[in-house]
Amino acid sequence: MKSIIIGSAQSEPGKLVYGFIEAMELPTGTSDKIPVIIAQGKTDGPTFFISANVHGNELTGVAVIHDVITDELVKELKGTVVAIPTLNPTALRLYQRYPEYQDADPNRQFPEGRFAKPDEDDEDPKFLKPYEQVADLLYSIFEKYADYHLDLHNHTLRSVPYSILDRIFYEGEDEKEDAEKLAAQQKGMVEAFGAGGMIVADFPPKTYMNLKYHRSLSGAVLNTLRKPAFTVEMGSNGVLVPEVVAGSVKATRNVLRWAGMLDSPKEEITEFDVPKPEYRIRRFEHPRSKHSGIIRMLVEPGEKVTKGQPIARITDIHGKSIGDGVIKTEHDGYMIALRDQMTIYPQQHIAEMGIKDEFDMVAPQKPKK
Ligand SMILES: [Zn+2]
Repeated sequence: MKSIIIGSAQSEPGKLVYGFIEAMELPTGTSDKIPVIIAQGKTDGPTFFISANVHGNELTGVAVIHDVITDELVKELKGTVVAIPTLNPTALRLYQRYPEYQDADPNRQFPEGRFAKPDEDDEDPKFLKPYEQVADLLYSIFEKYADYHLDLHNHTLRSVPYSILDRIFYEGEDEKEDAEKLAAQQKGMVEAFGAGGMIVADFPPKTYMNLKYHRSLSGAVLNTLRKPAFTVEMGSNGVLVPEVVAGSVKATRNVLRWAGMLDSPKEEITEFDVPKPEYRIRRFEHPRSKHSGIIRMLVEPGEKVTKGQPIARITDIHGKSIGDGVIKTEHDGYMIALRDQMTIYPQQHIAEMGIKDEFDMVAPQKPKK
């Protein structure tokens, strides 16, 4: 069996072992430690990483890891599961998205990897910001051991559970075939997670890069380490919904089955229902408001909508309609995530929709001008 040492945890065949990764020394004398659990079966198999809570107020994944990683799992397991219940412990304690020591999205701090553009005239990138250092350390562990990776998130409070198909980039035609193979593996994984979520392709390639999704953890594992990895967004941000946890636990075990690590039959997810669009959809921030105002949603998460349909009411603070009083969609599609806040400013989006995906899943790294 492969021996895996992560922080203070060292794998033992047939056992669960627990430990911590020393992540950051704190100015006040203690240190920030990232918890790790290594579950290793007695027979050989891949090493599957399951991580959660990089955004500290996204709670489902912590509970999913606690419920998936059990003595029963180890008895049946072929290979090793490395579980990280929180990638961002300060933010879990503070119940916030960002880490205490860097006021930025922690899931855009993983290494640039193959996308790095060395610029000798710019001395700033040589110095990593605090969470960037944590991300760098975590990434080195994935680089050493990970064959597969699942990262658990929650989108807005009122959002449908969904799994994300990342765009995969290739440089030069000779990399294209491997990129397509990797995309097919990622799709297989996402489909194995199955009705644990809708399947949604990420933003178009250019937007994906501009949003720095290649520097998310699963984006970096997929696009730079070239290992099958994906992110799920389980909805119900900021709260634990027991049905969502229970369905996600089954879906997570189904992905381990896909990886050949469990022989037991696939579990059916009965805790919640997600729509299954007849075409591939992609993430799209839409519709957007033309005015500042107060919004009230008229649709439900997961709802299928048609072009021209009112998605929200918009009023002033006295409750009087602004314009014709509604914000309509200009696209057919599905409501993925509804905005949590009641207030809106001009040009902000009130929801994320899934609309028909017209883009390729694999894209050239340096697109032709
Ligand atoms: Zn998140």
